[in-house]
Parts: sequence; structure tokens; C-alpha cells
Amino acid sequence: MDPNSFTSTYLRNTFSCVPISSEVLEQTLILMSDTARYMNAVNIERYTILEMDVFVRTTSSDGVNDIDDQNASITTLLNLLEKVKLDDITSSIEQCAICLEEFCNESKLEIVRTKCMHVFHEHCIARWLKRCYITHQLYSCPLCRSQIQ
Ligand SMILES: [Zn+2]
Ligand SMILES: [Zn+2]
Repeated sequence: MDPNSFTSTYLRNTFSCVPISSEVLEQTLILMSDTARYMNAVNIERYTILEMDVFVRTTSSDGVNDIDDQNASITTLLNLLEKVKLDDITSSIEQCAICLEEFCNESKLEIVRTKCMHVFHEHCIARWLKRCYITHQLYSCPLCRSQIQ
């Protein structure tokens, strides 16, 4: 039996439970085998046991799924909000309470109204809802704190 292939099989079985892709595992095993051979070659004291620490740092892709969940839930909420035209807005409301920009016909920004009858730019309330999501708070109106759902 080729001693190298025994080593590889042994290492592969030992490390198969590590949650990394087979490509990364393969590369890691090659590095470990090479390092072990090198350690043995320079082992002039003839120690019978040589220690090697191997650190494999993995990052999960959960963060990506989080962003998908977040975008999906905020898009759902935004679709529930009433889209309003500038002409429909009573004269008492002239500006977005979030960015304090005056609503104007020239800007192509979508305007939405919450159930509590507060009016915001769609992208401004979207940013607010994102903040609610990130800080684990209920989706609420930034003006009156009524729940948005
Ligand atoms: Zn705004
Ligand atoms: Zn409100």
C-alpha cells in the first residue's frame, strides 16, 4: 500500500466531519501531508510524536440568507402601504417626515401612506423599516409608533 494514499484516506476520514467544501478539504489535506513530511524530514532529534495544530476557519452563508429574508419581509410590507399621488395629499402634509424633503411633482419618488395616515417617501420608509429589522424592533411608524403590518 502506498503510504501517502493511506495517510490521505486516514486524514480524509478524520476530517470529513469538518463543515468545509471537499475542494477546500483536499487542499488542506495536501498542505497537512506536505507539512508533516517536512516536519519529519527536519526531525533530527528523532522525536516519535510530532504535533501539528491545524486551524480551519469557516464562515457560514447565513448572513446572505438574512439579507434575503430582510428584503422579502420589507418588500411585503411596502406593498401593503397605500401609494399616494401628490394631488391626493392634503395641504397640511408637505414634507416627508424622515428626510424632511418637500414632496414635489418633479421628483419621481414614490410616496406612500401608512394606516396611521402618515406619508413618507417609499425609499425613506424602506430605510426606516430596514433599521427596525436590524435592531429587532417591531415595524412601526417613525412618527406615531403605530405598528405597520
Ligand atoms: Zn423622504
Ligand atoms: Zn404614523
